[in-house]
Amino acid sequence: MFATVAWPRQFGAQIELAHPRDRGCWIKLSSTRFYAYIAKMIDGFGRNIDYLRISVTDRCNFRCTYCMPEQQSFLPHRDLLTYDEILVLVGRFIAHGIRKIRLTGGEPLVRRDIHILIDALGQHVCNGALDELTMTTNGSRLEQFAPLLASAGMKRINVSLDTLDAEACSRISRGGDLDTILAGIHAARAHGLDVKINMVALKQQNEDALLPMAHFCAEHGLDLTLIETMPLGAGVTEREESYISLDDFTAPLRAQYALHPLAHKSAGPARYWRVEPLGLRLGLITPMSHNFCDQCNRIRLTTDGKIYMCLGSELHVDLRKALREDSLTDVDYLLQRALRLKPQRHEFETQLAQPDLRLARHMNATGG
Ligand code: SAM
Ligand code: SF4
Repeated sequence: MFATVAWPRQFGAQIELAHPRDRGCWIKLSSTRFYAYIAKMIDGFGRNIDYLRISVTDRCNFRCTYCMPEQQSFLPHRDLLTYDEILVLVGRFIAHGIRKIRLTGGEPLVRRDIHILIDALGQHVCNGALDELTMTTNGSRLEQFAPLLASAGMKRINVSLDTLDAEACSRISRGGDLDTILAGIHAARAHGLDVKINMVALKQQNEDALLPMAHFCAEHGLDLTLIETMPLGAGVTEREESYISLDDFTAPLRAQYALHPLAHKSAGPARYWRVEPLGLRLGLITPMSHNFCDQCNRIRLTTDGKIYMCLGSELHVDLRKALREDSLTDVDYLLQRALRLKPQRHEFETQLAQPDLRLARHMNATGG
C-alpha cells in the first residue's frame, strides 16, 4: 500500500526526482538526506493520470460559436496563477506522475510574456522530467511564435481550424482570419513542428468543408482530428442544432476513401484511422457518440488554479489557496484527494438532451 508522504514545510519545494517506480517515485528532499515516496495518480477506477492540460488564460481573441458567447466576461488578472505559481504546481504534478503537458486556454498565445512559461516548461522536457510539452492554439499568433515553440522543445502542436472557406472561418470563429491561421500553420511546419488540425464538426455549418480539409492536410503533411461538439458553457445557443455525430459527418469521406483503423495512440482521446489512398492520418474524438472515458488519463488545471478531473463535471479542488499560503504539503494532499473526484464518465449525451443539466463553465475556462 502506497501513500503520499507529507514532509515538514521547512524542507521547502526543492526536491529532486529519483528512482521512478511503477506506482510512484521516490523524491529526494534537497539539502537533506531524506527521501519521500509520492504515489502516482491512479484514480478510483484504476486509470493512471499522467497527462495535464493547463489553461494559461481564459481570454481569447476569437469567440468560436460552439465555445463561448459573443459577449463573454473573463477572470480579473489578480485571479490568474502567475507563471511562478504554475511552475511550482508543475513540479508537484511531475512528482505525482504527470509526464505530458498541453498548454491551452482560451488562447495560450495571447497571454502576455507566454514565452517565459514555455521556455521554463521546455526545460522539463530537456531534462527528461516530462515526455512531452505541446499546445493547442487557434493559430492567430502562430507565425510569430513558431520559432519559440520549436526552440522550447515542442515537437507537435494542435491548431484549431474548422473550415478552409475564409468567410465561414470568420463566421464560425467570430474573429479568425483564414490567411493568418494558414500562415501560422506553414510557419510551424517550416520550424519542424508536426501539426494536427482540430476541426469541430458542426451540422450544416462545415459539413462541406471536410473533403477540402482532408485534401489540404494530406497535401501538407498534417494530421486531421475531428471533434464532436460538446454541450459545455452557458449562453452558447444552437447546441442541439449544430451537433452532428462523426459517423454522419464523415459519411462523404467514407464514400470516397477507405478508412483503415490504426493502432496509433496519442496522449489524447482520439481513435486513429488511415485514409487511403490519401495517406492522411485521421483522428476521431467522439465524446457524444462513442464514449472513451474508460481510457481517460487527463486532468485540467484552470487559469485560476483549480483542478478539474473531468471536462463534464463540476467537481474540482482549488490549489491556489494552498499555493498562496505556501503549503505544498496541502497541494500534495489535494492532488491525491482530487483523484477520488474523478467520475467514471461524463454525461454529455444527457446534458445535450436536457439543457437544465448542462454545465455553465465554458471550454476556455477549463482548457480544451
Ligand atoms: N484557443 C485554442 C484553440 O481554439 O485551439 C485552445 C483552446 S480551445 C478551448 C481547445 C479546443 O477545444 C479547440 O480545438 C476547440 O475547437 C475545442 N472546443 C471548444 N469548445 C468546444 C466544444 N463545445 N465542443 C468540442 N470542442 C470544443
Ligand atoms: Fe477561443 Fe479556442 Fe474557444 Fe475558439 S475554441 S473561442 S479560439 S478558446
